Amino acid sequence: MENQRESGMKERKKRRVILFPLPLQGHINPMLQLANILYDKGLSITVIHTNFNSPNSSNYPHFHFCSIPDGLLELGASSLDVVALTTHLNVNCVVPFRDCLDKLLSNVEEEESTACLITDAACHFTHAVADSLNLPRIVLRTSSIASLLAFAATSLLHEKGYFPIEDLGSEAPMPEFPSLRVKDIPLIHTQDEENFYQLLITMITQIKASSGLIWNSFQELEQDTLKTLEHDFRMPIFTIGPFHKYLPASSSSLLSQDTSSISWLDKQAPKSVLYVSFGSIVAVNETEFLEIAWGLAGSGVPFLWVVRPGLIRGYEWLEPLPKGFLEKLDGRAHIVKWAPQQEVLAHPATGGFWTHNGWNSTLESICEGVPMICQPCFGDQLVNARYVSHFWRVGLHLENRLKRGEIERIIRRVILEAEGEEMRDRIMDLKKKVDVSLRQGGSAYQSLESLISYIESF
Ligand code: UDP
Repeated sequence: MENQRESGMKERKKRRVILFPLPLQGHINPMLQLANILYDKGLSITVIHTNFNSPNSSNYPHFHFCSIPDGLLELGASSLDVVALTTHLNVNCVVPFRDCLDKLLSNVEEEESTACLITDAACHFTHAVADSLNLPRIVLRTSSIASLLAFAATSLLHEKGYFPIEDLGSEAPMPEFPSLRVKDIPLIHTQDEENFYQLLITMITQIKASSGLIWNSFQELEQDTLKTLEHDFRMPIFTIGPFHKYLPASSSSLLSQDTSSISWLDKQAPKSVLYVSFGSIVAVNETEFLEIAWGLAGSGVPFLWVVRPGLIRGYEWLEPLPKGFLEKLDGRAHIVKWAPQQEVLAHPATGGFWTHNGWNSTLESICEGVPMICQPCFGDQLVNARYVSHFWRVGLHLENRLKRGEIERIIRRVILEAEGEEMRDRIMDLKKKVDVSLRQGGSAYQSLESLISYIESF
């Protein structure tokens, strides 16, 4: 039996998959998690990555890594205009990516053949390259299904001349996607708005032209939107998320994670702490930062706050924080530059998560049954926040301009009041659905089996 399994494994090892992530934290994490899942299923893994934000290959000794030049430093990528960055990549990586892929395909060892390429949906240029080399391309979309459909609706509204919208704060239903409001339209502020719409249109066209679409989401969470997707995108679709629940974490973090977060949480009472983090890209101005700080202080609730260097526009780190702020809170607060987020959310002391609703953060919170305070800033975050607060009802939406009094009240509602308990019950139900979905026979489990057979069929 053992021998049979081993020889089966050896045969399956002969298929190789080449992956290419978009070089942003929220896209690198799920791509490398997916790579680990595929490796665990017997596939061999090569990752092509840009020089900018290159992953730490020493955390993945079982993968082969190839880096390509991207010209992003000249663009000033640290300013993180995600539309400018993605547009730049789609133009400037064509030649180096093609050369690298061509070399990989011609250098294959006898016993290894490349089955397909898996690329981030935003790297639409990879479609033409893969086509020219006769290599099937599967797409990984790292957001929620609902947000892709909302992006598709947004590009349709653009084609119909709907923008600019006069009242972007309107509660009216979004045309073409009425389950959202006009204020939830996933716009992204960028130097050149036309690039944004163009990016959406090309991304959607090249997703539809690809050989398959993988989601870091699961059927039970997005049942209705999945039905719409299957109707609008007639292609093989694999809902195999949440990826990070398959295997023990191996860090794809670009910043080092401060483990004092955990030792500090160890000293707090169960479900008493609010974890606060706005992910790897969102920035706030000084006034907003101070409202957040005073709101947290005034809530009376213990908090663990990730203040990423660059979070406050125009400052290196914590310079605007009033002198003696932490000392006055007398151990009730802990601030770090970057946390081991999945461990923090899984910690028994964590009672709530004030988040920008990036899709990874949203899924990670659901997987640990932690209710949210939603403060989306742009793009898919707006859609995720609406689903969390309005449809799944596992979080409260902080919709208005940041004011310390409102912040204090919303924190207490989530951590201390019955409303928070009710949300916790609902999110625990979702957590249970995750567990069932990943178990043998569950929807994500079966979808992964289909994906592996599909890859091996190329
Ligand atoms: N993250 C982390 N430590 C932190 C904050 C975030 O490890 O202090 C991770 C988090 O677990 C998630 C990713 O960074 O996997 C952020 O992705 P998300 O989609 O939530 O937001 P983005 O950074 O893309 O806006």
